Amino acid sequence: MTLLCVPILTDTADAALRAAALAKIKGADLVEYRVDRLFDGASGGESIAACLRLASDSPLPCIVTCRTNREGGEFDGPDDERVALYEALGVTDHPPRYLDIEQSTLDRSANLRQKIRLAVQHPGQLRESRPSLILSMHDFDRRPPDLIRRLGAMHAEDSAAVLKIAFRTRSLRDNLELFDLLIERDRPMIALGMGEFGLMSRILAPKFGGFLTFASLHPSEVTAPGQPTIDELMDLYRFRAIGPATRVYGVIGWPVAHSLSPLVHNAGFHAPGVEADAVYLPLPIPPEWEHFKATLLALCDHPRLDFSGASVTLPHKEHLVRLAREENWAIDPLAERIGAANTLVRTADGWSVANTDAPAAAESLQRAMGWLKDRRIAVIGAGGVARAVATALVDKGATVAVYNRTKDRAEALAAEVRASASGGGGKIVAAPYEKLCGACCEAFVNCTPLGMSGGPAPDESPIPASEMENIPHGAVIFDTVYNPLRTPLIEAALDHNLTIVDGAEMFVRQAEAQFKLFTGVEAPNGLFDRLTRERLRGSGSMP
Ligand code: NAP
Repeated sequence: MTLLCVPILTDTADAALRAAALAKIKGADLVEYRVDRLFDGASGGESIAACLRLASDSPLPCIVTCRTNREGGEFDGPDDERVALYEALGVTDHPPRYLDIEQSTLDRSANLRQKIRLAVQHPGQLRESRPSLILSMHDFDRRPPDLIRRLGAMHAEDSAAVLKIAFRTRSLRDNLELFDLLIERDRPMIALGMGEFGLMSRILAPKFGGFLTFASLHPSEVTAPGQPTIDELMDLYRFRAIGPATRVYGVIGWPVAHSLSPLVHNAGFHAPGVEADAVYLPLPIPPEWEHFKATLLALCDHPRLDFSGASVTLPHKEHLVRLAREENWAIDPLAERIGAANTLVRTADGWSVANTDAPAAAESLQRAMGWLKDRRIAVIGAGGVARAVATALVDKGATVAVYNRTKDRAEALAAEVRASASGGGGKIVAAPYEKLCGACCEAFVNCTPLGMSGGPAPDESPIPASEMENIPHGAVIFDTVYNPLRTPLIEAALDHNLTIVDGAEMFVRQAEAQFKLFTGVEAPNGLFDRLTRERLRGSGSMP
């Protein structure tokens, strides 16, 4: 079992022991007391006594670490003082379970190495109750170029019970090397990626038999960049349920840190009646095509990752169709016609891509309007979402007018959708943006980022409140923007007693359709909608 360890940056022994008690309540197996601040080698006995007290009074088994500033810690005293602390911890009656020291420290002096060997349990050691050694290596900038050589040196150290490697991952692909190291380990090993790309290595440690993963008590208390909180690991990613056979899914995009998709899909996997052995992660891939292609193929091809599918969001939806064409993956006809896909799934026959955005938009509007055939609908915007929405509506037989700030793009979009129409009987034309508010349409669909929190114009609406009285009575207003739930457009429509469809409905429908493709079963009734709305009302997460 992979242990869940809470690191505690220790200012006073009392505060550290209180934090450890909380970690125990939250389900941690182990705590790491980082005593770099508490231990002041110059004051001698007093701070050593405080560290001994941590070990003897700890409510959980513990690691004690005094990390030097050379490896990302705060201790800047001489090695001798630090070794004196470790010697004291090695001979006390209630020692910590583990001491952590860096390989680079042992490399500096044979004398230091000898003293550390005497302090810890190892095959040649006579006394039984000593702590075990975690031998560690950190690089806060990158994967060390001499990683394999340094690992060889760590393996040669027979007093090390556990090897720990942590470096800054600069791509999701770096995690795959960390997984390979875990697969090939000859003794317990910790292999973790730092930074936002490394989250995957922290969550999937149990899949590859990692000795432990670190999780902070609170976002403000992380001891390494990219560290999740214990609540995220337990409640969002269901860390305890992850094992060697767990299938891996995720949301690919840039940025993805605040995506709502992990919340809904992980909850779905663990809902009664589904109980899939699967986990869903944020998978950040930088915007360029080369990054997308190289990273996604590496994930798909890894023999032990069990990568099984992904949601794909901005800016990679077109990239997914391009890659599928290059690799001869199956492409659903709608995604082929739109030229963009938001879903990748591994099937019995290989990889397959689909677009669930377009049907989600059409279904959302159909629920509000009853039917779509021959209805006059204004699509506002001419970007990727407008293309998906317009295609789906024309397929359903609607008459679509595209209104866009840049008229040429509206005309190009209308021409492309017309040329690729499926024979659903719908029509599409471009219309002048300035005539939008006087349009005699039965529905208006905002596919611009106007009104989006964090977007270019969060307080604006494509139909200003002052113009709402010109919108035909009984019209439906559909805003694809879902953060906030109540955009300026939705607020103005409600003030004028118009029927509304919000962007959360489209988000939930596209996610539910993905879930069906991922698992073969329906998403639990109402679950995605409830979680999405709770989160958007509570914290204002990004799409
Ligand atoms: P996109 O490709 O960048 O297209 C944006 C469109 O909005 C362009 O046509 C652009 O006009 C127009 N626009 C941008 N700023 C404008 C402004 N200040 N005034 C007037 N028009 C403006 O974006 P997209 O991928 O289509 O996404 C559009 C929106 O859809 C997003 O903001 C997001 O909130 C929403 N969305 C919702 C869901 C969902 O599930 N509910 C999913 C994805 C996206 P120009 O052509 O003139 O540049």
